[in-house]
Amino acid sequence: MRRRARPGLTSRALRLARDVRILVLDVDGVLTDNRVLYDADGLVLKSFSVLDGLGIKLLQRAGFEVAVISGLDNAQARRRLNELGVAEFNGGHRRKLPILEDMLRARGLDMSHVAYMGDDLLDLPVMAAVGLPMAPADAQPEALRLAAWISRKPGGCGAIREAVRLLLTARGADMAQQEV
Ligand SMILES: [Mg+2]
Repeated sequence: MRRRARPGLTSRALRLARDVRILVLDVDGVLTDNRVLYDADGLVLKSFSVLDGLGIKLLQRAGFEVAVISGLDNAQARRRLNELGVAEFNGGHRRKLPILEDMLRARGLDMSHVAYMGDDLLDLPVMAAVGLPMAPADAQPEALRLAAWISRKPGGCGAIREAVRLLLTARGADMAQQEV
């Protein structure tokens, strides 16, 4: 049986991270904490982490692309990602792998260039295909089993920032030296 991935900067995760050029993220449970808040008028609110937002900016400035594939067409995520300058938002796709394959074909990249963070069943086909499958600490057991790297923090609460640290460290970059 495959050993469960350990959190932190493990040698296996750093080795897989060395080839990564694009970080692809799920929305609910990865960019958010999975909660959906409704007010009395039916307005739907989701919560994103500022730590993760700055991590995404740092990664983009270091030359990585950040992209999103979500099972839902997610107006809140669209707005947040627009603020962060993430142009590649694919919403409303329950079958995520064909979307990723199209993205890679357009960029001349292959699966070894992809880090993907997902937390639930819709993410499994992508996690089985990419070079560096990642999961937040509170992902479902099926996603944790496929992950080569697991964050210490839960989704929507700094898990992406930890992934950014791994990707930058694998490139030999020091997080503290990154221009904000
Ligand atoms: Mg999810």
